[in-house]
Amino acid sequence: MRMKPVASALLAFLIMPLSAHAEEEVNIYSYRQAFLLEPLLNAFTEDTGIKTNVVFAKNGLAERLAREGRNSPADLVMTVDISRLNELVEKDLTASVNNDTLTANIPAHLRHPEGKWFALTTRGRMIYTSKERVAEGELTTYEQLADNKWDDRICTRSGKHPYNIALIASMIAHHGEADTETWLQGVKDNLARRPQGGDRDQIKAIAEGVCDVALGNSYYYGNMLEDENQRPAAEKVRMVFPNSDGRGTHINISGIALTKSAPNRDNALKLMTYLSESKAQHIYAEANTEYPANPKVEVTGVVASWGELKPDTLSLQTIANNREAAVRMVDRVGYDN
Ligand code: FE
Repeated sequence: MRMKPVASALLAFLIMPLSAHAEEEVNIYSYRQAFLLEPLLNAFTEDTGIKTNVVFAKNGLAERLAREGRNSPADLVMTVDISRLNELVEKDLTASVNNDTLTANIPAHLRHPEGKWFALTTRGRMIYTSKERVAEGELTTYEQLADNKWDDRICTRSGKHPYNIALIASMIAHHGEADTETWLQGVKDNLARRPQGGDRDQIKAIAEGVCDVALGNSYYYGNMLEDENQRPAAEKVRMVFPNSDGRGTHINISGIALTKSAPNRDNALKLMTYLSESKAQHIYAEANTEYPANPKVEVTGVVASWGELKPDTLSLQTIANNREAAVRMVDRVGYDN
């Protein structure tokens, strides 16, 4: 049967804008700041012609996704910290991705076993020490932080902060709960002041002589060295790669997850794979002095000058699973009191 001209014109009108729309964009919910993502996303659009739309937020993206349900415009979530990625999985908001490029580029311990999240960058949880008051090689492991020797000499941010919770969760995986609690109590007893501030504030506290030893992520040190106002403080501090001679340094990640409801699934997968490849890995890691998650990608700039990071290859999913035990432990030893 011949279609009437009016009907066929109507059909074309209905189909065309929809298909064109679906092929050209990808929508991202991001906890990461705009200046970190823009260079990456611009490169992606230039190389593929696919447009990206980003909603930036500091909190509440998992709740927003849950509320929007199947109608959510979001295809991808980009965030830092295993706890936030795990929250998306626990709320059943992410889809499994089984993709050869991603599994080839991102090592198994840096992705969810069913592909529900993938790391894109890594950062070490480092020990910072005073160059003046702590000798090189005097403190080399997380375990040693509980030694009496450091009594009244350690500063950290809150024990409840996700970065410290992840470290404690890794200690539980390696040593069991009882030994980890003894250790954490020992670290608490060695604190020079009540936990406060962020990781940069601990570097400043060492520079000011408030304490001699601290914990902090590698990129804070890198970013302070690259900022002329903060460099003098950072230069008084040495960054130690803990447990390099043993299981390796505890790392955390920034990562990406595909949403269950992704309306632009194919484009989202194109962006995920793009971000795991050399060009994007380089741009992303350098923007925040982090490490590429893809081990084939060379470390450059100030990060390369620190020497090699030997990461603890404990599965981040195991760390996520020990998270609640770590939170309860922080309460039991009164770490923040
Ligand atoms: Fe941070």
